Amino acid sequence: MKVHKLKIDPMFWGSLVIGEKKAEIRINDRDYKVGDILEFYPFSIKGGSVLGGSMFKENERRVITHIVDCGDWGLPVGYCMLSMAPVCHQCHGDSTQCQCAWPAMQKKIERIEEAKHEIEQAAEYIGMVSNHTEDDTAIHFVDMAREKAEKAVKLLEGKGV
Ligand SMILES: [Zn+2]
Repeated sequence: MKVHKLKIDPMFWGSLVIGEKKAEIRINDRDYKVGDILEFYPFSIKGGSVLGGSMFKENERRVITHIVDCGDWGLPVGYCMLSMAPVCHQCHGDSTQCQCAWPAMQKKIERIEEAKHEIEQAAEYIGMVSNHTEDDTAIHFVDMAREKAEKAVKLLEGKGV
């Protein structure tokens, strides 16, 4: 897996960053391979060189998901069309296709389910308050409900409970 540092005209920068731009036509002079990383730097002749380290420090990374050799398909010989996708930080593959984020997502779903259960129990305790006129018992149920609600908040905030 190679990283190709590429200049991109600033007029395309915005659509690249927000994910609208998913393909590039490039001169095929770098032995591009599916799985290689494209590291784009916004650059214009007027704006100065990024690679020289002047005004642009930001870059945007994409992984190549597909390559068409344009010479075979009526486009100028020597060019290629690269399809690209956002890069996963873990596997460096296509983050829209890989499953790296699944375990973390599964944990979040479990915490949400647990929080939902705590909130339901809190509601039950609140429901019991009205059936108990003795102050101590009513206060006890309010305290229990508060405890459950606080636990639910911690679960949803991702804190230890
Ligand atoms: Zn991944």
